Amino acid sequence: MYFAHDTEIALAESAALVNTLSDGVDALSDRAGLDAFLVRFPFSGQVLGTDAELAEVRQLRAKLRSVWSADERDEAAAIVNEVLADADARPYLSKHDEYDWHLHVTRPDAPLAQRIGAEAAMGFLDLIRADDLDRLRICAADDCEDVVVDLSRNKSKRYCATGNCGNRANVAAYRARKAGRAEA
Ligand SMILES: [Zn+2]
Ligand SMILES: [Zn+2]
Repeated sequence: MYFAHDTEIALAESAALVNTLSDGVDALSDRAGLDAFLVRFPFSGQVLGTDAELAEVRQLRAKLRSVWSADERDEAAAIVNEVLADADARPYLSKHDEYDWHLHVTRPDAPLAQRIGAEAAMGFLDLIRADDLDRLRICAADDCEDVVVDLSRNKSKRYCATGNCGNRANVAAYRARKAGRAEA
């Protein structure tokens, strides 16, 4: 694999978090939504289960989306630095559960949004360092604004992982081809 495993996971998680607000539907409109997200993407450390915690995660979500919409690398770097500062990030090595020594940047008792933010930032900073921010895109489907992380070698991924956009586009292209043939 081209990117470190940690980076891939961090970026997939941030995209999934951003895409919890999709086409006007907010999967994090209540606490149960956040709990469901945490089942899909478990974060080690403390989860309070409070509404304040939910509000912080939703705020973070907006900030993470702004990395996708950043026009320039400098702008993305500034946002990432802000997220790291907000999270009071301090790198240290950790070994827990089944994992060997790896990098953590927040303590397990830091607020959930800070831990998620710091992890996301670690993924983004790899892309910024490698001048690879064009791997962060918006879904190519006309009616979808979901975010996409493309870590494929040939940068060929165009559709989000949340909806069924890739399939829908294929079906539409197939129908268009068929219609074109019928007319000819
Ligand atoms: Zn860990
Ligand atoms: Zn999509």
